[in-house]
This record gives sequence, C-alpha cells and structure tokens, in this order.
Amino acid sequence: MFKQFDWIMPTKIIFGEGRLNEIGKIAAGVGNKAFLVTGKTAMKKLGFTQRVQDYLRSEGIDSILFDQIEPNPSLETANRGAQLAKENDCDVIIALGGGSTMDVAKAVSTVKTYRGSVEDYLGNDKVPGLILPIIAVPSTAGTGSEVTRYAVLTNTAINRKDSLRSEFIIPKVAIVDPELMVSQSPRLTSSTGIDALTHAVEAYTSPQADSFSDIAAAEAIRLVGIYLRRAVWEEENMEARSGMALASTLAGMAICQAGTGAAHGLGMSVGGFFNTEHGTTVGLILPYVMEYNFVANLEKYAKIATLLGEKVDGLSLRKAALKSIEAIVGFIQDIDIPSNLSQIGAKKEMADEIAKDAITQGAMRNNIRRLTSKEIKAIYKKACG
Ligand code: NDP
Ligand code: MN
Repeated sequence: MFKQFDWIMPTKIIFGEGRLNEIGKIAAGVGNKAFLVTGKTAMKKLGFTQRVQDYLRSEGIDSILFDQIEPNPSLETANRGAQLAKENDCDVIIALGGGSTMDVAKAVSTVKTYRGSVEDYLGNDKVPGLILPIIAVPSTAGTGSEVTRYAVLTNTAINRKDSLRSEFIIPKVAIVDPELMVSQSPRLTSSTGIDALTHAVEAYTSPQADSFSDIAAAEAIRLVGIYLRRAVWEEENMEARSGMALASTLAGMAICQAGTGAAHGLGMSVGGFFNTEHGTTVGLILPYVMEYNFVANLEKYAKIATLLGEKVDGLSLRKAALKSIEAIVGFIQDIDIPSNLSQIGAKKEMADEIAKDAITQGAMRNNIRRLTSKEIKAIYKKACG
C-alpha cells in the first residue's frame, strides 16, 4: 500500500568538496548585508570565518559577525543575535558551524523578520510566514539542520530544550562541503555521526514515514554503516567525510518529514537537564529505545539490520529485527561512544523529572510504540546503567 503524503524540500543543496568558495555569489543573489552566525572558536581558528568574510566582501556583501554560539544554545543567545541582526538591518543570515549555530540562525532570522522574541515562536507552526533567507553551512556531519524545519534551543532558566518547528525556517541554501568537517576530532565525529544514524533510524521507523522519507532514511543508514567508522578512525579520509556529509543531510531530510522518536524525546530532556552532547546522548539511548520499539515493525527493523551489513538469511523475521539492535550496539562500541548515560553526567535519581519533561516532547509522541511515563522512566534508568 502506498499512503498519501506531502513532501517539502525547499533547500537548494550545494554539495561537494571546496564548494564553500561559492558562498559570496550565492549570498549576493539573495541579499546585501549578511549576518554571519558561528561558534566561539573552531571556525575562526581553522580560518573558515575569515574565508567566508572574504568571499562575501569580494561580491560586495558586508557582514556582521556573531560568533557567540555555545553547544546546546540558549534562548538568550538567540535573542541577543536577533537584536544585533536588527540593529544592523541585515537581510541574509549565514550559519557557519554545527547544529547549534544553524538553529540559532533560524531563530535569529525569524525574530529579525517579525517581532517579539524567540520565545514567541517556540512550538508547532508559530512562525507566521517566510523569513529572511538562510544560507546554512554545516561543519559537523550530524544534525542535518541545514535541511530541517527545526531549531532547538535551551531555556536555561528551567533546563528545558524546546524548538521552533515550521516549514518557513528551512534554510534556502545548504552548502554541504565535507572539507569543513575534516577538522572534527574522532570524538566529535562519532558523537555527531551517531546523531545522523539516530535520525535515520527514528525517521525510518516513524509512524509518519512516507515513500520519500524512507528512501532518504534507508540510504543514510547504509552510508553511515559504510563510512562512520572510517570517518572516526581515519580523520583525513575525504571519501568517508563526504559519505557522512551526505548521510547527515539525507537523514535531515528524513526527519524534516517523518520526525524523530523516543531516543530524541528522551535525549532532549537529558540534554536540557545535564547539558550533554546531543549526538552522544541520543545515540547512546537509541538501542534501549529499539529494544522497546522493534516489535512494532519487525520488517523495518530487519531492513535496518540488512542496511548495516548484518547477515539475516535463514533467520526468522523477529531474529532479523533483533540483529539491528546488535548492529547498533556494536557500532557504538566501535566508535567509542560511552555505554551509559551516567558516564556523560546524567543522574539516575532524576528519572521522575526527566520523564515528566520527556513526555511533553513532540518526538516522544511520534514514537512508533506508545510510551507512558512508566516506560520512559524504565528506558532512562536502563540507559543510565
Ligand atoms: P554543535 O553545533 O553543538 O557543536 C559542537 C562543538 O563542535 C562546538 O564546540 C564546536 O566548536 C565544535 N565544532 C563544530 N564544527 C567543528 C569542526 N569542523 N571542527 C572542530 N570542531 C567543530 O554540535 P552539533 O552539530 O552536534 O549540534 C548539536 C545541536 O543541534 C544540539 O543543540 C541539538 O539539539 C541540535 N539539533 C538540531 C536538529 C535540527 O534539525 N535543527 C537536529 C538534531 C540536533 P565551537 O564552539 O568553537 O563552534
Ligand atoms: Mn539529533
């Protein structure tokens, strides 16, 4: 059976090594004064910030630099950025960095275009219409934020991660240049890479999955299976970096359409409370969620096993489906992701607070198998080790 679906992918994707040097021309096509959003250290140190400013200048585009983005960025940082973009009357927003940077850029563009503060746009479809164009340049292969309709921000006053969710915040252009990703340490590569895999698995098994999101998700799983280990352990391997860049963008397309599931629902809460690395957090939770979920769609979990290179010939469908969990547990070990949440700072005793927050996360409601607070607590405690 083919179910009905709407597919939206408004981003022009510019993919390939060295393509960052096209950013001046691209920006000139959409604006006159750029607001350049980036993190505090990496992009500057590696010379990419300067390069972007030079490319822009050579096309007559002035840029205002906002290099204050922290991992798990706060609402406050995004509001500060929006204020600065308004004061300088920028008309194109450029994000140079990881998911944190791209998400702030989406919030900045929204508030610059309309009014109020970022808080006014948290939730589903609160953005009234088109926003200033965003050019997203990912420097990690993980979030896929360059093609998604999500912007995740932390309300530090209440330790809660929340998001803007709207088709209008999807970037206009994504420059996916694997050269920017080579500098990721093995640790950052594994953390961000497992995020991409978690997106792909959760989108593939989502109740909202459709024919197109399945194609993107399945291919992302296959590519991660081939390239993530190599990207982690052979840092300079450009084929692996390119494979992961493609995988993360594909996985982003898949979640943009199909959403994520309980690993992200729980991961949002853990990240909000303990400020843990997003990818490591969701990746580490994933196998525990799969153990709970796999019975809800044996065929798809069995397919995941095959996509990750597991041999399932001669196995029952149930055993084949279980192989997907085995594959992902092995993967996590191979790329040195810690094996439980306690190792990254989460506290088992906080299960009640975590479950209370997690049950309100949209991703939790999108999980293939329904969860009550009892199951969420059980998965969390198990993942804490
Ligand atoms: P971050 O953007 O948080 O970056 C993590 C760290 O990596 C930063 O300290 C940054 O340095 C450093 N860094 C980035 N790129 C490089 C590089 N090329 N070389 C060396 N260091 C680098 O990480 P993620 O990309 O994993 O983004 C995670 C965020 O994205 C979370 O907030 C998560 O919730 C969100 N997210 C959003 C999604 C969406 O659809 N919008 C989907 C999934 C997750 P520096 O600080 O110097 O910049
Ligand atoms: Mn994620």
